[in-house]
Amino acid sequence: MVKKLTEVILLGGHVSTSGGIYRSPERANVFSFRTYQIFTKSQMQWKAKDLENEDVEKFKSTNGQHGMGKIMVHASYLLNMCTSKPDLREKVLDAFSIEISRTDRLCIDYLTFHPGSASGISEKEGISNLIDNMNQVIRPDQKCTILMEISAGQGNTIGHTFEELAEIMDGIEEKSKVAICMDTCHTWAAGYDIRTPEGYAETMDTFKSVLGLEKLKGFHLNDSKKGRGSRVDRHEQIGMGTLGLEGISNFVNDIRFRDVPMILETPKGEEGYGQDIENISKIIRIDE
Ligand SMILES: [Zn+2]
Ligand SMILES: [Zn+2]
Repeated sequence: MVKKLTEVILLGGHVSTSGGIYRSPERANVFSFRTYQIFTKSQMQWKAKDLENEDVEKFKSTNGQHGMGKIMVHASYLLNMCTSKPDLREKVLDAFSIEISRTDRLCIDYLTFHPGSASGISEKEGISNLIDNMNQVIRPDQKCTILMEISAGQGNTIGHTFEELAEIMDGIEEKSKVAICMDTCHTWAAGYDIRTPEGYAETMDTFKSVLGLEKLKGFHLNDSKKGRGSRVDRHEQIGMGTLGLEGISNFVNDIRFRDVPMILETPKGEEGYGQDIENISKIIRIDE
């Protein structure tokens, strides 16, 4: 019997929570995903209503029903952990702390966030603020792992090289609570050659020596509208961008990452995942 794509790789997609957070596992299940990503609150707002007990229980049982695991929360885009502004910093720390609490309450494994932007300050200062802020919010007893997402290097964003991510990791006290999410679009836009098999192998070797492959806990699987090294963060449907199926193929066929969630964040969202899955099916090598 031919195996389904989602039985070979841990593919998922970002899905909506509209109508209730417990609706998201159903939405992921439509595509036979065994993992997915959500925002637990509006990504453009600071405040969030508290989660209702009943919704949390329904969410957990629906996940169990559909065999969902290694789920990801994406933190709000407003959280700039590199900020130097005291009043903003307080707001950011507060909001980040709430993101951790909500992720834990929902029994979700990963909380992914963008390292942030050093606007109006030096890169060095931004990194130092980020480290301080991370050490403020991470709790030794938290259950979820926080994933720092590699950036495309757009503007003053922090974290577009493995070295910079390693520098941040070095400063974190509770290292076991932090790992990396590699967004394929960002990595490509940041300049890493992940399209050719040779370039991909070299990139992963670098990651291995700088950060360690065990720190690679998640992928955002996206094609890119802009070219390699453009430092522009514009996602594209799988196979329709400059990374192409050739580049995506390196990731989905790397047996080292069979159990690492690969989350689609392509522009059409749930309307485009069918096509994305079809395209990945063309390149996946299934030899079991
Ligand atoms: Zn991403
Ligand atoms: Zn992006």
